[in-house]
Amino acid sequence: MALFDKYSNIRPWLVDGGSKSGSGCWGTELGEGDMLYIVDLTVKDEYRRRGVGSYLLQKILESYCVGHAFCWPTPIASKKSKAEWAQEQAHITAFYRKVKWVPPVGLTSFLAYSPDPFHPSRSLPIASDPETPSIAFDSANPTAPKLTLDELHTRYPLHFKLSRDKSPSIMQTIRAAYQIDAGSIHRRDVNGFLPVHIAAASENVHALRVLLEFDMTEDLKDAENDGGVTPLEGLEVSMRIVKEIIDLRGVWKGCSDEGLICEYLLKKGTAGEAEYVKKNKFGCTCGMCTDGWLSPRMRFQLLAQSEIQGDMLRGFDSAFQLRRPLSASDLFHPVLYYLPKPLQVEIYKTFYIGFYTLFDGISQILRTPDAIQTPQVVITAAFDINPSAVQFYFRKGGKVEYVLDALVDTAKQQSSLGDGAFGDMFDVEEVGGEVGYRNFVGCANDLEFGLVRLGVGLTMGGKWGPFGSLWERQLEMGMEMDVDSDSDSD
Ligand SMILES: [Zn+2]
Repeated sequence: MALFDKYSNIRPWLVDGGSKSGSGCWGTELGEGDMLYIVDLTVKDEYRRRGVGSYLLQKILESYCVGHAFCWPTPIASKKSKAEWAQEQAHITAFYRKVKWVPPVGLTSFLAYSPDPFHPSRSLPIASDPETPSIAFDSANPTAPKLTLDELHTRYPLHFKLSRDKSPSIMQTIRAAYQIDAGSIHRRDVNGFLPVHIAAASENVHALRVLLEFDMTEDLKDAENDGGVTPLEGLEVSMRIVKEIIDLRGVWKGCSDEGLICEYLLKKGTAGEAEYVKKNKFGCTCGMCTDGWLSPRMRFQLLAQSEIQGDMLRGFDSAFQLRRPLSASDLFHPVLYYLPKPLQVEIYKTFYIGFYTLFDGISQILRTPDAIQTPQVVITAAFDINPSAVQFYFRKGGKVEYVLDALVDTAKQQSSLGDGAFGDMFDVEEVGGEVGYRNFVGCANDLEFGLVRLGVGLTMGGKWGPFGSLWERQLEMGMEMDVDSDSDSD
């Protein structure tokens, strides 16, 4: 998480040439290709200091020729003094640097290795390493003294209260502290944070409102801590980390309203708090996402996919004979595996038409600006197209959710998070005389398929397709199992 977002894009601030980019020799290429991350390298005591470690490392890097390698030269945590720890870290770093490991990535303590002998990182002298990697930016200042809660309370009473009391009574506390000592709102803690930093990062709306009342005369909003972090930057980092941690474990359900209001206050927004919260709840960066999550590019992907699936299914209409059901494997179409297994066995033509009419309904909604393909809206649209087939589909146990699940999952598999097939075909300026994917404005939500599932009610508790193992499905569809193929995406 220090280096990459969940799509394995390198963090922009580490390579954009700004104050957090360090040596500046790395770029977005770090996120491309395969990656090797060396977690641990151990040489038995009796073989140490004979170059065994360097030899191993050298051989690994020579044999590994696809992408970049990374390591985090950090001593194993134990009860070492700070000086011992720093010395050991320098020792480990020097070891890696000896084997062409090159400058830290931005102001982090991660080292990287480029497989490209002409990469600019290869020609940088070690002396050009930034002097204080990672301090103040990774989180807190590691050299600052560690204080107990009691000590914090005594030394920084206002900071302490701000991080805990989020009730309206905190407003009185701050005003009282200011009355007694106007300097209290300018006191810096061990990391150089002012109370306004703490109020922002702990999403304490009441506290932040009062502190910003002083802003006219006290200029707090743009104050930087020792590491150059403003209250807004601190808040944004903390909101991003919360999102990313939740993303790793399950479904992120949007930013907290408190965090967004704090952000609004610090940005001196003018559009109104409620409006700001609504627009930014799901991390939209384009300002054009329907309901804050369905981005123009996501809409385009889903629309293209539902049109393709609808048309492909329609093309197999003629495979049916009167009153003779077919099975999903007879029909040779992957989206049918998103029907629960009992429904895959006996597919009647009318059921099949009902199934693809729902795709048609979704397409129709997605073509309508600002419309969202929620189950109820899809049902209504599909009924307008072919009421008897849709009714038959539902009567036989079909659900609109199976179609939405198939659509979102297929779109995800073909996106750059999957095999990239969609991009190969549609990521262009123009497709068949119409505006292509690339012409739509980009947004952080363009690949947030989890948000789409959440938005259309495909809840995590539900059991979703495809049903049947990959092996079963491929066997049924008459495909050879390709043992060597990369099956990570499945
Ligand atoms: Zn957006």
